[in-house]
Amino acid sequence: MMLRRASQDPSQLGAAAARRMLDVAVEEARAGLAEGGIPIGAALFDPAGALLGRGHNRRVQDDDPSVHAETAAFRAAGRQRTYRGATMVTTLAPCWYCSGLVRQFGISRLVVGEARTFSGGQKWLATEAGVEVAVLDDPTCASLMVDFIAARPDLWAEDIGADPAST
Ligand SMILES: [Zn+2]
Repeated sequence: MMLRRASQDPSQLGAAAARRMLDVAVEEARAGLAEGGIPIGAALFDPAGALLGRGHNRRVQDDDPSVHAETAAFRAAGRQRTYRGATMVTTLAPCWYCSGLVRQFGISRLVVGEARTFSGGQKWLATEAGVEVAVLDDPTCASLMVDFIAARPDLWAEDIGADPAST
């Protein structure tokens, strides 16, 4: 049984901690790219900053459009009694599906690597769902997506559910 210290304040995530968490997500994004997949990575951390689960988008690898980076990390974490104080970190702004996951399970905090190439539900999470959102605007995360979108616009359109006729 895991015990949590009562003194942990979920609103006290510092820049260094956010950076360290994002580094795990970036490793996942790069792993996905190396597998021929879409380079989006994510990780879920407990209130003390311990890693619960990590993963990356596996639409291509698993032929499964439901395996987004956030859902992969969430599933890798297994059952948790609560997500209060937990942090989801993702290299790219979460889509509506993954924003819904954060809202549904009461994950307290979201760290986003970049929201330049895609903007999903992070503003809704911050303003409507009471989630503490930090967008780091990280150039490494942005270049991963810029390069990928330039190389595989068809695959990117498929991943975000864009109308094929409009791309
Ligand atoms: Zn998603």
